[in-house]
Amino acid sequence: MFGKGLLKGLSITIKRLYGPNLTEYYPEVKPVLPSRTRSSMVLEPEKCIACGLCVHACPNQVISLTSEKDEKNKKVLKTYEMNMGRCLLCGLCTEACPTKALKLCQVYENAVYHREELIWDMMARSRQTNRSSRKED
Ligand code: SF4
Ligand code: SF4
Repeated sequence: MFGKGLLKGLSITIKRLYGPNLTEYYPEVKPVLPSRTRSSMVLEPEKCIACGLCVHACPNQVISLTSEKDEKNKKVLKTYEMNMGRCLLCGLCTEACPTKALKLCQVYENAVYHREELIWDMMARSRQTNRSSRKED
């Protein structure tokens, strides 16, 4: 009985030793995500018309925004925040957005130490992304 179990254990060890490597070398090697992965949200503030449809579409009250009128009496976006601690990544807000300013994306390194850091200033994040993509060019 003991010998049988030992042999079984050894066979598993040998199989693993010479079989395909299952270890992921994250974060040095980034995983290739399935094409339909949804792990984050991105806003293009210049496309946003501050209509608020995304706010009303969200079942979890994740989004809050403020707007103001410009010199031509046109509504412009002033602030746009998302409480990502509550977000289900369901995409109802992106479907409601008439200008495609709000999108789901595949950024997955979103871990933070404090809950307050899950409240994202989407306009600041967009500026940051633009700056980093300019640096890469
Ligand atoms: S993805 Fe869903 S839960 Fe998240 S903000 Fe949009 S509507 Fe709300
Ligand atoms: S639905 Fe789209 S355009 Fe309207 S406020 Fe939300 S992000 Fe902006």
